[in-house]
Amino acid sequence: MTDVAVVGGGLAGLVAAGRLAEAGARVELFERRETLGGRVRSTHDGRYTFDRGFQVLFTAYPAARRELDLDRLDLREFPPGAIICRPGERSTLSDPLRDPGAAVETLLNRDVRLADKLRLFRLQRDLEGRSERELFAGEDGSIREFLADYGFSRAFVENFAEPFYGGVTLDRSLGSSAAVFRYTFRCLSEGAIAVPAAGMSAIPEQLARRAERADATLHTEMPVTAVEPTAADPRTGSVTLTLDGVSGTRTFDACVVATNPKAATELTDVATPDETRGCTTAYYSLPAHKDLRTGGRILLNAADERPNEVVPLSAVAPEYAPEDRRLLSATWLGIPDADDAELAEEARGALSDWFPEHRFDELEHEHTSRVEFAQFDQPPGFRDRLPGPREPAGPVYLAGDYTGWSSIHAALDSGGHAAGAVLDEQGV
Ligand SMILES: Cc1cc2nc3c(=O)[nH]c(=O)nc-3n(C[C@H](O)[C@H](O)[C@H](O)COP(=O)(O)OP(=O)(O)OC[C@H]3O[C@@H](n4cnc5c(N)ncnc54)[C@H](O)[C@@H]3O)c2cc1C
Repeated sequence: MTDVAVVGGGLAGLVAAGRLAEAGARVELFERRETLGGRVRSTHDGRYTFDRGFQVLFTAYPAARRELDLDRLDLREFPPGAIICRPGERSTLSDPLRDPGAAVETLLNRDVRLADKLRLFRLQRDLEGRSERELFAGEDGSIREFLADYGFSRAFVENFAEPFYGGVTLDRSLGSSAAVFRYTFRCLSEGAIAVPAAGMSAIPEQLARRAERADATLHTEMPVTAVEPTAADPRTGSVTLTLDGVSGTRTFDACVVATNPKAATELTDVATPDETRGCTTAYYSLPAHKDLRTGGRILLNAADERPNEVVPLSAVAPEYAPEDRRLLSATWLGIPDADDAELAEEARGALSDWFPEHRFDELEHEHTSRVEFAQFDQPPGFRDRLPGPREPAGPVYLAGDYTGWSSIHAALDSGGHAAGAVLDEQGV
């Protein structure tokens, strides 16, 4: 039987561990933190669920459909589109085909002109059914350049694309790769964005159960400090892992390094993206009677980026809050130099501007996640510089979003690719 170590218990490592164990390998996964899930984690304080930063699952991600049992995640889907907000004004932009209830509002929306709405339909048709390879192929440019070349107006870019895709890529300048925009736009046209009723951590929990059912052993609080192949040839060598603290070294037939990019470089010497993007998400509650009538749509800040977006979370996932309260999240791009009270003032100010008919003095701060590393930077052409799973010498394989693009899809997909490469070269 082949002994395989997996280093890192994020989505990529959990998929790799599950796939390898299901194929018959003897698998041990080592995660340095006390919980699995990596960047996808949630905390529950008995009343509320707080994801570690606002993040969502795109149900059209092919790897999500392949690796996850979506029905069992009990997904709560956001309605398509968003509400564009600025002081004294709100306007709904939806997809009339998928959300007929919002068709009239969308057609009357003055922030996004009819010509831009028609361009959105044309873009949907142009990207329909295209594979990941096709969407990422060819000359790359920035999202801003792509939208301008496609003919979208400046108003569309400022009112919708900057806050919406600024939120998706954590880069409101829209300087990120247009390929990431095309892929996520396609997924948004073909599926929903959603959170599991029990919080985003239900995703790694499901993967962990799958791996354990196949007899993988998942260790937490066990950092790996060195991964050393005994030979360059993957078929003849083995690999020695140094485990932090009392555990010493262990030898395996193969090792999948499924850490974050910085740790992967430290363990394997393979270059990975070193520029990162972070965000800060603060959670606020309101009394249940305070209904903002958003229909669960994301509120985009078209005026400035403080905060970039506000999400009526419990309007979509009532399980995130107790019955007597509503839960909202507000996300700032990067790590602002402001404390929780100052952020709460900014959120209260933005909401009061957007909803002048409501008062927000009952808005209570519940929790803040300051996430230094959420995604790696994805400038145009970034894919050309990413490592493949077989880049390290010997029987060492890479998995992680940094082998594809910074997303749940790429993380899940990379775990499958790395497991496939191990099975091809090592057998079971
Ligand atoms: C706030 C936020 C918002 C996001 N929004 C979205 C979104 O809406 N949609 C989307 O698709 N994606 C989103 N993402 C990105 C997505 O979450 C990540 O791309 C994905 O989770 C990466 O998974 P991974 O397994 O590749 O890496 P990670 O999740 O980083 O997992 C790596 C694991 O390796 C462990 N590790 C590191 N070093 C060692 C070591 N030496 N020994 C043992 N273990 C080690 C780490 O502790 C970690 O658990 C978001 C991320 C964040 C944080």
